[in-house]
Amino acid sequence: MGYVFDFDHRHERPPMELKDLLGGKGANLAEMTSVLGLPVPPGFTISTEACRAYLTAGWPAGLDEEVAAARARLEERMGKRLGDPEDPLLVSVRSGAKFSMPGMMDTVLNLGLNDRSVAGLAKQTGDERFAYDSYRRFLAMYGRIVLEIPGEEFDRLLEAAKELAGTDADAGVPVVLLRFLCDSYKAIVERATGRPFPQDPDEQLRGAIEAVFRSWNGPRARAYREHEGIPHDLGTAVNVQAMVFGNRDDRSGTGVGFTRDPNTGAQGEYGDFLVNAQGEDVVAGIRNTLPLSALAELFPEVHAELLEIFARLERHYRDMCDTEFTIEQGKLWMLQTRVGKRTGRAALRMAVDMTSDPAIALSRAEAIQRITEDHVEQVLHPQFATQDLEVLTTGLAASPGAAVGRAYFSADDAEAAAARGEPVILVRTETSPEDVHGMLAAQGILTARGGLVSHAAVVARGWGKPAVVGADALRISGRRMEVGGTVVAEGDWLSIDGSSGQVVLGQVPLTAAEPPPELQTILGWADELRTGHLAVRANADNGPDARNARRLGAEGIGLCRTEHMFLGEDRLPVVRRMILAETEEEERAALEELRAVQREDFRAILEEMDGLPVTVRLLDPPLHEFLPDVAELELKRATKGLSEEEERLYGAAKAWREFNPMLGVRGVRLGVLKPGLYSMQVRALMEAAADRVAAGGRPVVEIMIPLTVARAELAEARRWVEEALAEAGASGLEVRIGTMIETPRAALRAGEIAEVAEFFSFGTNDLTQLTFGFSRDDVEGRMMSAYLAKGLLPANPFETVDPAGVGELVRLACERGRASRPDLKLGVCGEHGGDPASIEVFAGAGVDYVSCSPFRVPVARLAAAQALL
Ligand code: ADP
Ligand code: MG
Ligand code: MG
Repeated sequence: MGYVFDFDHRHERPPMELKDLLGGKGANLAEMTSVLGLPVPPGFTISTEACRAYLTAGWPAGLDEEVAAARARLEERMGKRLGDPEDPLLVSVRSGAKFSMPGMMDTVLNLGLNDRSVAGLAKQTGDERFAYDSYRRFLAMYGRIVLEIPGEEFDRLLEAAKELAGTDADAGVPVVLLRFLCDSYKAIVERATGRPFPQDPDEQLRGAIEAVFRSWNGPRARAYREHEGIPHDLGTAVNVQAMVFGNRDDRSGTGVGFTRDPNTGAQGEYGDFLVNAQGEDVVAGIRNTLPLSALAELFPEVHAELLEIFARLERHYRDMCDTEFTIEQGKLWMLQTRVGKRTGRAALRMAVDMTSDPAIALSRAEAIQRITEDHVEQVLHPQFATQDLEVLTTGLAASPGAAVGRAYFSADDAEAAAARGEPVILVRTETSPEDVHGMLAAQGILTARGGLVSHAAVVARGWGKPAVVGADALRISGRRMEVGGTVVAEGDWLSIDGSSGQVVLGQVPLTAAEPPPELQTILGWADELRTGHLAVRANADNGPDARNARRLGAEGIGLCRTEHMFLGEDRLPVVRRMILAETEEEERAALEELRAVQREDFRAILEEMDGLPVTVRLLDPPLHEFLPDVAELELKRATKGLSEEEERLYGAAKAWREFNPMLGVRGVRLGVLKPGLYSMQVRALMEAAADRVAAGGRPVVEIMIPLTVARAELAEARRWVEEALAEAGASGLEVRIGTMIETPRAALRAGEIAEVAEFFSFGTNDLTQLTFGFSRDDVEGRMMSAYLAKGLLPANPFETVDPAGVGELVRLACERGRASRPDLKLGVCGEHGGDPASIEVFAGAGVDYVSCSPFRVPVARLAAAQALL
């Protein structure tokens, strides 16, 4: 099979499914051409395979011949030849990878023009202005993209020409000045490259194709892929397409259109267009665009045709599409389509709407699968807490959510400030792919120019980052800006609301977000799907967190950490007394005090979770966490001296000091050394449960023993728990006793451990640390970044569970545990429980529930359903 495919090539599968080979843009151009029969200028696609071959071994053998043949077919079909001095064919050379990378790679327009063919174009169209406008665009684009000359050199001259002509529209520059611009641009090229501008269309074409291949590895493309998790080895396709001209005259134009509103999901077309303009003009924010609805008056026939095409695209792709189109002298041409990016709010609304849209007839399962973790997170984003605001100015609401930060006016400054830990609002006149690192670092983005499909808006929406664009009252100069008489300097606080477009000086308080009703609909469908298969619980250790978790849909608590209850200011001294106790009485007295407070904590949690299971983990961390720092006390001892009490603390801290606390006396090991501790906790818990029963509640209690390594050890701990239960006289209550599986040995010996455990809960944080031998606190940062950058690990195993190693241990423990106790209950607690990719691994292992932080519960409900689909 070759490298080059015409848009109407007959593939074995629908071209829209061939994005791997043709790239997204090429696949959809072919789909529009050969399946939908839409008006698309003809052309051909050079496959991603050619790019990969080029990137590994240089220009592929045979590619020149294939391109020449495809070009000849195109020339034949168009009845024009590239570079023809009488009537030239012009083409665009467009990048297009499998995954859309908006503005990250390069596109050259009007290729085929040279000093002779420009005259032919002028003669054929009878329009010199148009011909030289196209030529100056081509010279600048080719100069910047292929010859790598800084774009500002060309832009500066264009600005000067506009000033000279007394116009602020590109189309207002008269032909004499356009000719002059073309000559100046050629001089710039000759100066920069030491060679005249290439006049030969063959050389132009090959240069542009090569530049698109190269742009795959450009720094901004790489940075974008890293952020989006797109692999670096896919390569891009190259599309060569006959040009159509939106810059022909006032009966021409170019635009970007969506089949529905990508911000809100509302039905009806949405987008921007410009009369007498070409290519990037719309997204560059150079001129103020018109809304798509204005087409109805200016180009009624085109408008009607476009709406019809939008309806067909939606039916065909069964989703919202975005499109790029051009009108040349009243004739509509489609230049691109794809399933469009959208905000979380829009994604939810569209998914729900499309289930009842007969043209699309989405199933509920499909609707669930269209919602991502990011979509859910976005609608859970904060908003301004008050509307009583002194609004500095209002721009376009480009990406929802509110953000507060300090103003920085360049991407580098923004990045540096964020690295210092400051929240940042990046303020720019407009953004370009060169600003991406600053946009990434910012809490929010504010621009003075550009519309809703400008670079800033598109990128911010993709990332769910609040953005206000086109706030044209801003006058930015250097490291400050002026807005209607107010000066905002670098470092000043700004608040922006990407849902209303408001910009406010100072720090506006934010509220929790208000998700649209469709979130509940989708989560409800997700719950229906997973109920009885995979439950979602939360990790919470106090009443308010438990209430929040339940409100967000948690079906119980999978991990209640009791150590947090010990660290309260009023409690720490009691814990210390317990540790320091020299006699049994002293120890018992301290434990009694702790029991009283723990009882209250447990009561509040059981009340909030009434009727749902609450898994209480007995004390887990190393005791030294409750003791003061030895080095600090040593210093004080040597300088100011220690009080009697401090001397005792110092002694205890030294006595409990460990070389490797995370591998030392913690978890059940602590219980072995201080058995009174665990029985105290169990008694406190059972008293709280009894209180709840007396109050008419239904507590469901699960007691969990941490860090088990052996059956005998767990059997011993279980005995204390059972004794304490008996003592508390807890008859008639549902109490389960189980253990965490967080050491590799426990996972391996799960069969015999299950004989004394009614449930397992995988503590995948510790299990990951111990399986890899990675100390989490020590490897995060420098080491992990290096491993990820070098591709030594596919992902950070603390974020997404390692499916091969740790996942294998989980699967094995599930199997062995269930083999010895068929009704063994299996769950996961720890951060992985809220991570969609990890949830998929756990679902595959057959666990009964995952447990995560309360705010992740909605994401986990969705991901659990998706994992089962
Ligand atoms: P990107 O992937 O950055 O959107 P494109 O390849 O889509 O880049 O090109 C950008 C713009 O250039 C298009 O939106 C369109 O307006 C213009 N363009 C590309 N090819 C043609 C063409 N054959 N005729 C007219 N305009 C074109
Ligand atoms: Mg495009
Ligand atoms: Mg642990």
